[in-house]
Formats: sequence, structure tokens, C-alpha cells
Amino acid sequence: MIKNKFLILLSSILLISCTTVQPPNEPIGVHPVEIHTHRIETDKTLNSIPAPPIKTPIIQKSPFPVAQLPVPLLSLRSIPAVPGGIAWVSLRSSSSSPPIIKYQNSRVVVLRHKQQWVALVGIPLNSKLGQHIVIDEETNQRYSFKVIKKQYKVQRIKIKNKRKVNPTPNDLQRIRREKQLIEEALAITWRPTTTSPLPLMQPIRGRFSSSFGRQRYFNGQRRSPHTGLDIAAPLGTPVGAATTGKVIRTGNYFFTGNTVIIDHGQGVVTLYGHLNTIKVMPGQIVKIGEIIGTVGKTGRATGPHLHWSVSLNQNMIDPTLIMK
Ligand SMILES: [Zn+2]
Repeated sequence: MIKNKFLILLSSILLISCTTVQPPNEPIGVHPVEIHTHRIETDKTLNSIPAPPIKTPIIQKSPFPVAQLPVPLLSLRSIPAVPGGIAWVSLRSSSSSPPIIKYQNSRVVVLRHKQQWVALVGIPLNSKLGQHIVIDEETNQRYSFKVIKKQYKVQRIKIKNKRKVNPTPNDLQRIRREKQLIEEALAITWRPTTTSPLPLMQPIRGRFSSSFGRQRYFNGQRRSPHTGLDIAAPLGTPVGAATTGKVIRTGNYFFTGNTVIIDHGQGVVTLYGHLNTIKVMPGQIVKIGEIIGTVGKTGRATGPHLHWSVSLNQNMIDPTLIMK
């Protein structure tokens, strides 16, 4: 009997202690992970409880911190501005915050170098030669730079799949649609960064099987020049993000096959093509080197390799110019 009474007492203590350990009105934040994962089920009970504050991105009203020009990019100062290259433009702005510099209506990368602002302008591969202008949108100050000729090599490629060289009318429709999707991705809204989005890490090790800018002939027919760098590697080799960024698009495209596009801020966008598998989703934040997919030969490819494109202010440039 005594033993039974003791058990009843013990169980009622346990019952009390259970209810006191998890009171129904426990404030949010004590178990943030649990509340987050059960949000849908517990929504009704949470209605009366104020939602936790949403973290808003820091708006750069304050001039500091600002993105500093990393040492590896200093070499760009002495490299001539060519189609598919980068122009180094020293700015005379005394503004304590990064000036808004535009080239052909697109905002460009601006970094602080010692006591000066420097604009790094991506030049289109089909650019005209001669004087080009960038404008400081706030002061209307203009800066010019000169684009000089670069002779890119010719490349002749044999493709078994003839449709990849002479697409059907349906294919052409698809190609036009996908071209627009890619252009939209490159034109993503310019967002500020507190660290430089450049230089970039090479996404995989391997032999450069085709360089940027080559004029290409597929089965003897002239096609668009090569707007990326091809790096050959075995099928399934993991591909890393070139630097921290946000995945803005993934998809399967006629030419680049399984493709991932990442926004790194300040108008710097990278594209990874011919992937065998895609390991990320649009909206996902990736860190430098994080695996985004594996090497494949999807799309117009003769063998497994990574097609890697780098875009500055909506212009694809030679990736080797900004590699670590
Ligand atoms: Zn390529």
C-alpha cells in the first residue's frame, strides 16, 4: 500500500514537472529550431505570440565597411582594355561611399584602392574598338578608356549531334527563350557588397580545353564565339562555387545543358554549364568552394568538361583575368 501511494505521488510529481518544463506560453526563441521546423503545425497556437523580428539586410547608408580592392586584382591596372576584357578606371570621386558608375546603362564593380575608387568595367566580346565612356551617375562626371584589338584564336570542332549545329525551328524557339533567361540572369539587380566579389576561385582543377573568345566553327560552320572557359575533368568531378553568392537560376538549356547561375553581388555573375548533376536550388546561398554540381557533358559538348562563364556588368569576360 505504502509503495502504491508512493508511486502515485511520484507519478503526479512527474506529471507536474512535465507540464512545468514545457509551458504552453513559452516565449519564442527558447527553442528556435523546434518552433521553426513545426511552424505549420503550431501556427494557431503562435498567433497570439508576436513573431520574431525578421532580419533586414543592412543598407549601406554608412560609408564603412566598403569593398577594398584585393591585391591579386592590381594586375588589371596594367592589362589593356580589349573586347572580352576588363577596363581599370581610376575615379576622381571624393565621396566616402562607393560612387554609382555606369557603362552602357549597367552599373559596374567599384572597389576602394587606398584613397581612391576604382571601377572595373566588363567589356563585351563584340565591342567596338576606340574610346568608351563610363559615367558617375550622381555627379555626371565622365571617364573614358580605350578598347584596343585582340585577335582571338579560331577553333574547329566536330559534333556528332547535327541538331546542336543546325537546330530545328522548335530548337531555335527554345534557344531564343533560353538566351533571354540567361540575359535576364546576368542583368540581376546590382546589390552592394562589403567585400570584393573578385577575384574568383577556379571551380575545378583541370586542363583548359578551350579558352575564352575563340571564334568557333562547328562541323565547318561559323557560330558565336566562345563566351567562357572550358576546363576538362572526369565525369562526376565536383564543381565548387567560384566565390560566395546566391544561386539565381538552374535549368537544362539547349547549348549549356544542365546549368547553374550564381550572383556574387556588384553585378558579378558566374555560369556553370554541361553539368552532369545540379546540387543547388535557386535562392540558395553558397559559400566559396561549396559543391554546386558535378562535371558532365550535357548540352552541346563533345566530352565531359565544365563551361565556366564570368559576367561583369552583363558582359561575359575572360575568366582567367580575375582568377585567384
Ligand atoms: Zn565552353
